[in-house]
Formats: sequence, structure tokens, C-alpha cells
Amino acid sequence: MELIKLIHDELPQIQCGRCDTPGCYQYAEQIANGGIHDRCVPGGTKTLNNLNKILAKNITSVDMNYGPSIPLQIAIIDESECIGCKKCITACPVDAIAGSVNLMHNIIDELCTGCELCIEPCPVDCIDLVETFNKDSRVVSQVNYDATSSLRMNESKQKRMDTANHINKEIGGVINTKLENRNSDTSENLKSLQLKILNDQLDNFHNLNEDEKNTFIRNLNTED
Ligand code: SF4
Ligand code: SF4
Ligand code: SF4
Repeated sequence: MELIKLIHDELPQIQCGRCDTPGCYQYAEQIANGGIHDRCVPGGTKTLNNLNKILAKNITSVDMNYGPSIPLQIAIIDESECIGCKKCITACPVDAIAGSVNLMHNIIDELCTGCELCIEPCPVDCIDLVETFNKDSRVVSQVNYDATSSLRMNESKQKRMDTANHINKEIGGVINTKLENRNSDTSENLKSLQLKILNDQLDNFHNLNEDEKNTFIRNLNTED
């Protein structure tokens, strides 16, 4: 089996980022590429020993500088306090929070890994953690983590495209206005040139006075 997968299977799938990588898969990749494997504090000694076996190494203790640990828990939101700011949604790595701007938010228990990443961003401190005995959300967390990351990447790509489109539209608008002005300038210039030629012809060949010339030109414009 591929080394990354072997390592990944031993990690607790909380997606908390405490190991200084964004999530469990990235930490597995880092270890497979020679990174030190003692940083998953939530996995504790059990994870460390299993990784020791896979890697044929013998690190004896978890590096607690990457702690503290995370128990089996899920988050809950005090609905009466929530102001619907969405900050927790942005922080959640597995999209386990439902809600929209200015509306009460809720945790989806089946998805919450208890990673604690939503606690700090909440401006009204209305998110708590409660003990659970169900590990299912951690079992499926990598799938949810990947789906959430890809959705967010697409969202930011979409935002960048919208901004680029907006800028393009503005530039297009400026170019069109310039071209329109240029066209009207051209037709005005053409008109005055035609008028000058006509005036010269009338002067040179028809020997008309000013009033007769103006009447002739007016009649020509009416015919147009
Ligand atoms: S559980 Fe947290 S600390 Fe452990 S590997 Fe996953 S992201 Fe890293
Ligand atoms: S709801 Fe909070 S604790 Fe649960 S997974 Fe999301 S960020 Fe982590
Ligand atoms: S961060 Fe706190 S206040 Fe804001 S939506 Fe989430 S739970 Fe509600």
C-alpha cells in the first residue's frame, strides 16, 4: 500500500491543523516525504507508536508544543446568542455548520470532528464543545475536508473571474465611449470639411452672395 495512505490511516482525521499542516492528509504527505511524525497531539502515543512501526523509527514521545490534545467531542451553538456573522462557517474545515448571513447557525453533528477551529473566530463566544461517543464524523472527515477545500477553491476562482469580468466590462465601456466619441468627432469633422468644400465651390463657380449661399446649403440639408 502506498506509504502516504498507510500513514494517513493512522491519523485521527480531526482535520484540526495542530500538526502545523492544514489537515491530516497534508501531514501524512509531509511524513512520507521525511517530515517528523511526532506532531499529532490528538493522536497521542497510540498514533505515534503506529507511525513508528510503519516508518521503522523509534520516537518515544509526542511533541507537546503542537498541543493541547482534542477529546472526542462536537461543537454546539447557543442559538439565542448567535448573530449570524458566518465567521464559524469560514473557519470550519469540513463544512459542518449550516446557516446564512444574519440567520442563526447550526452544527451538523454527523460532520463535526470537534476540531475547535470555529471557537476562536466567534465574536460573541456562543460555541461550546460537548463530549460525544460517536467517531463517525472523523471516519468520513477527509472526504468532507477535500470537498470543502475544492468548493472554497472554486469559490475563490469564481470570485477572481467575477472581478476580472467586472474589470473587463469597465475597460470595454471606456473603450466603447472613446470609440463613440471618435466616431462623432469624425462625422462632425467630415461635415465641416464638406461644408468648407461646398462654400468654396459656391464662391468660386456660382458667384452667390452670403444669403443665397446659406439658403442653398439649408435646402441641401433638408433634402438629406
Ligand atoms: S488530527 Fe490534527 S494534528 Fe493530527 S494529523 Fe490530523 S490535522 Fe494534524
Ligand atoms: S463545527 Fe467547529 S468543531 Fe466542528 S468541525 Fe467545524 S470547526 Fe470543527
Ligand atoms: S461565529 Fe458565532 S455568532 Fe457568528 S455565525 Fe458562527 S456561531 Fe453565530
